[in-house]
Amino acid sequence: MSYRADVLIVGGGIQGCSAALFLARRGADVLLVEKNSVGRHASGVNAGGVRRLLRDPAEVPLSVASMHLWHGIGDLVGADCGFRVSAQVAVAADPAEWATLQARAAKMAALGWTHEELIGPNELYAVLPALAPGCLGGLIAREDGYASPYHTTMAFRAAALRAGAQIREGVRALEFHHAANHWQVASSAGPITARVLVNAGGAWGGAVAAALGEPVPLEPTAPMMMVTAPVPPFCDPVVLGVNRALSFKQAQNGTVLIGGGHLGTPDIVAETSSVDLRKLVASARTVAELFPVMRNAPIVRTWSGIESRLPDGIPVIGPSTTQANAFHAFGFSHHGFQLGPIIGRILSELILDGATDQPLQPFRIDRFQ
Ligand SMILES: Cc1cc2nc3c(=O)[nH]c(=O)nc-3n(C[C@H](O)[C@H](O)[C@H](O)COP(=O)(O)OP(=O)(O)OC[C@H]3O[C@@H](n4cnc5c(N)ncnc54)[C@H](O)[C@@H]3O)c2cc1C
Repeated sequence: MSYRADVLIVGGGIQGCSAALFLARRGADVLLVEKNSVGRHASGVNAGGVRRLLRDPAEVPLSVASMHLWHGIGDLVGADCGFRVSAQVAVAADPAEWATLQARAAKMAALGWTHEELIGPNELYAVLPALAPGCLGGLIAREDGYASPYHTTMAFRAAALRAGAQIREGVRALEFHHAANHWQVASSAGPITARVLVNAGGAWGGAVAAALGEPVPLEPTAPMMMVTAPVPPFCDPVVLGVNRALSFKQAQNGTVLIGGGHLGTPDIVAETSSVDLRKLVASARTVAELFPVMRNAPIVRTWSGIESRLPDGIPVIGPSTTQANAFHAFGFSHHGFQLGPIIGRILSELILDGATDQPLQPFRIDRFQ
């Protein structure tokens, strides 16, 4: 078999599928290849947090633009993706955390952003009545939310297919050569010729970048999750820790999904990962301290997924600096799900218009040189 397309996208996570959708909707001839199946890795197994709160300032413009797309997700992909608007609240449980939130609020105000608001204890306990006594306040983003990660990624896949993109699963891109204004890509299913190459390879995106002559210090990671049996409703917003690794939310069926940064062990070669139960115990203890009602909640399942992070905690997004007609979007450093919709739009603009109005300078691939 051999394939030919104008744009070849490597990677069938949310970034690759979103790029395929936006490009195909504008009439581009798009082929996406995914070595496993769409949504098999981080995009299908994440916590589903759709969060602008506490983002790196460099990411805030993209995150805010993406949130506009999330609020119209049904129109964008033809499925609701399980998206629910819900406040996200970072809780300050001690004076150091309260000082951190006050400094953050001042910084965001100075930058002109208004989506994060500092709230004192009265409002904090009004939105989180089950919170343990003694917390000092919080930072709230009222119009954030959460979604179902696998359904979302599959909805982008389905919408991209309807728009005319080709998607080939079980096809691994192996080698990349640029000659005579075209990419010649060796794949497990045969040669692929394309004018433009998009690297949306997630934790494997570093290998693609290295093959293009621009290696980055990308570290594979394995964020972990656990979920409880249903418990009576006690928490409507999504809750984040400040100086402690914690995020959790109660779903509408009563189950509580707990994550927030504790890491298991990734195996990037075997393409799997394992959980570290001792760290999950620490995570469960933090939840029980903040919400005593959770003390007896049975944990019914744990899992981890392969992600990757860059030293500054923000992704690589933008054109290759070594090759013509190549673009990167990888290394989302544990918070790329929320950015998925805008990343597709940005890549389509870079490829079809030659520019985007989103500020991409902080995400340049050569920033580590
Ligand atoms: C447990 C967990 C919880 C998380 N929680 C959140 C959250 O609440 N909110 C949030 O915003 N983010 C969260 N994240 C992060 C988020 O899931 C990722 O940042 C995002 O999904 C990255 O999307 P991606 O498309 O870049 O990568 P992926 O979903 O990993 O997709 C990349 C795909 O590329 C394919 N690929 C790579 N190389 C090749 C090749 N050579 N040929 C063919 N295919 C290739 C891979 O098989 C993979 O499927 C979480 C992540 C994890 C693991």
